[in-house]
Parts: sequence; structure tokens; C-alpha cells
Amino acid sequence: MEHLSVSNAQKCVLESVAVLGTEPVRLEQSLGRVLAEDVRANRDLPPYDVSAMDGYALRSADLKNIPAALEIIEDIKAGDMPAKVVQAGQCARIMTGAPVPQGADAVIRVEDTHAFSTGGPLLDPLPQAGEEANEKRNSLLDVVQINAAVKPGNDIRLRGEGMRNNEVVLTAGTEITPGVTGVLATVKAAQVQVYRRPRVAILSTGNELEDMDDPVDPNKIPNSNSYALMAQVQALGIEPDLLGIARDDPAELEEYLQRGLRFDVLLVSGGTSVGVHDYVRPIIESLGVQMKFWRVAMKPGHPVAFGITAHTRFFGLPGNPVSSMVCFEQFVAPALRRMMGHTRLFRRTIAARLTHDLKHQPGRTEFVRVSLAKEQGGYAATSTGAQGSGMLLSMAKADGLMIVPAESTGLAANEQVTVQLLDGTVFQDEAGFTE
Ligand code: AMP
Ligand code: MG
Repeated sequence: MEHLSVSNAQKCVLESVAVLGTEPVRLEQSLGRVLAEDVRANRDLPPYDVSAMDGYALRSADLKNIPAALEIIEDIKAGDMPAKVVQAGQCARIMTGAPVPQGADAVIRVEDTHAFSTGGPLLDPLPQAGEEANEKRNSLLDVVQINAAVKPGNDIRLRGEGMRNNEVVLTAGTEITPGVTGVLATVKAAQVQVYRRPRVAILSTGNELEDMDDPVDPNKIPNSNSYALMAQVQALGIEPDLLGIARDDPAELEEYLQRGLRFDVLLVSGGTSVGVHDYVRPIIESLGVQMKFWRVAMKPGHPVAFGITAHTRFFGLPGNPVSSMVCFEQFVAPALRRMMGHTRLFRRTIAARLTHDLKHQPGRTEFVRVSLAKEQGGYAATSTGAQGSGMLLSMAKADGLMIVPAESTGLAANEQVTVQLLDGTVFQDEAGFTE
């Protein structure tokens, strides 16, 4: 128990959490949720062969000799249905997304053509002439010179190329991103069945703590953990309940813990170490929580606890503010994501170059707060400064957590390291490419 590794502790947590039930949500409210059912296409898209370009629908066999002159028999806009069949020597003016008429087997883009009026030369339309005038002028253009040959199928998007009626286009377990929202709208899913979000309670413990609404007392410690944990939970798309602060008093703690155990997940900050006033362990066990572990070989975050009841997952997080946040990322976040139906449970890790030496005592996995800078071929990772487990600023400045393996005897500058990315790293200062 004493030397439970981070990976084994993660495994233990994940073996004890399962996906929650499902609920319907309106499409407008579904961003970030996870589909609980497969979604099928409800039609072919495009519904017929359509033009991929503004140009002319024609018979490719008519383009043996270039330039070729073709008679324009009609004008087909998106939303129109063609009225005529294109015969040899003919074509139809066609807009992007408009159905390709019968007889035509290819589209040529307007840039490779030049249209004429057999009734005599036409003035170019004035820019302010408007659509109606333009259309009128177009209707007088009855012949087009084609300046390039095209193969059958050129610039035609085939019926069902995007999706086929009744095919599964999204599978259960898919996170709803903006792209997924577009697909759901395409298949007219005004309401979708998603996994429920866990109800999460956050409780801080300690006589020394001062809460947000309390007057400032220089002898007290501001309760930062409830709020940092709240934000970590919110970053996963869940609105937690803050239960406040329980004093280091067995009766008061019991009352608070009992309330907390009515939630799907209870996060308790502090009181889990071995001090004489650390009452969380005996009380939580007396309330029927089956403890799975109390310690993990990690730094920061050594005294982290996990236990279960039939309905609740309990996490005892260390009181030290950095430890609390690091433990949340390693154990709580993957558990909450599994409950919500996600299959990607872990934060993305990247390889980076360490910019400095780093001391490390073998024994525990260490999570070093680092900032990341883009450099030729990858990223440079630099410690954000003093790494004490109470130094919350080291976390505020961090782009990621650098993982120092338990057995490491220290790292040297320029070594390649693994960094777990934190919130806020999806965006960067510059575009990263120039075109
Ligand atoms: P504990 O785990 O209760 O022994 O607390 C360890 C350290 O974390 C102590 O210095 C506490 O004052 C501090 N601490 C505990 N809870 C919080 C909290 N909610 N916010 C900020 N610091 C805390
Ligand atoms: Mg305490």
C-alpha cells in the first residue's frame, strides 16, 4: 500500500468508476457532452449529383477539340431542378451545389470558359447593376467557348458522397465538438441522447481556513482549494456544489461528509494525512466508505485517498494547494471523464526538451510545474520556479506538469522529458505557420 505507484492508483480508481446513465439534451446545449447512442444519416448527401463549381455542365466527349463551342440551354442555380436534358453540343450554366442535369457527365469551372451572345456583343455588367440585371445579361449569353478538356466526373460531387442514408455517421462515445455539432445538425438531431454528468461536491477541512465571504484575518489561511478544485471540475464541463469548510471537529466533519456522500463524487480537501486532527479517514470509514488507498508514491500529493460506496466515489485530496490540484489531474479528472462517457480519459502528453538540470530523489513520481516554449522541432520545458506543494503560483504559471519517473536520480539540461498539458495550452501566441 505504502508504495502504490501513480499508474496503479489510476488503475485502481478507473476500475471503480463506470459510465453514468444517459439523458436527452437539446443540440444547442450539447457541446462537450458525449453521445450515448450511434447516430445515423437520414438521407443521402448530397441528395443528387451536384456541381462542385460555378461553371458549365457538359458532355466531356464534346471536348475532343479545344477550344469547343457549346450551346447554353439553361441556367441551373442551387435549389433548382434541371428542366432539360443536355444533348451533344449543348451545356447548362450551373452554380455550385446545383444538381447536374441529365446528359451531362462533367462540369467545367467558369474560369476555363468564355460565354458569348449570338445576338451581338454585350457590355460588361456594372458592379451596381444587381443580381437581376446580371441574370438578364446571363440569359442573353447563349454560347460558351470551352478552353480546356475535362474528364468524365470532373467537379461533380456524387450523390451520397458525404453520407449515405442510414449509415452510422457518429458512434456512441463521441465527444460533441463543433464539427460533431455540424454533423448532428445535418442529420436533423434536434435532441441527442448523452451521458449524464456526475454531481460533484467539494468540501474543505481545517480550523485555520478563512472562506471567501469571511473578513480577512491575517492569522488565517484563505480557502483556495475549494475554488481551484471548483475550476478544475468546471473545466471538465461540470458545475460542482461547494459544501464550504468543515472544522477539524469529528461531529461537524461527520455531518458534512454525510451530506457529501449524497453526491456521485465527493472531493474532500485536507485532513487526510496522519496528524492527530486528521479525522477524515476514521469518519469516512465509519460512514461506510470502503477505502481503496490512502497514499500514492508521488510528489506532490503523497497523502491522497480514494474510496467507494455503492453510489459515491470519495477522493481525499491533500490540503496543500498544489498537491490538491496535481492529484485532481491524475485521479479525479480521468474518473469524472469516464463517468461522463469519454473514452479519452487522460490529459495529452508531449515530448519536450528540459532547459535546465533538475534534482530528484528516487522513490516517488514527481510532477514539476513547467512553462512551455515552442522551439525548432518541438517544445522547451522550464520549471515555473519554487516547487513547494504550497506554492500555488507555480501552478498558476504552468502550461503543464513534467513527469519525473520515480526511479530517476535527476535530470540534466537538454534531456527529453514528458509533459502533461494543462488547460490553456490548446492556443498559442502565433499562428505557427505562414502562407
Ligand atoms: P492538511 O492536509 O489538512 O494537513 O493541510 C495541509 C496544508 O494545506 C496546510 O498548510 C493547510 O493549511 C493547507 N490547506 C488545507 N486546506 C486548504 C484549503 N482549502 N485551501 C488552502 N490551503 C489549505
Ligand atoms: Mg488540515
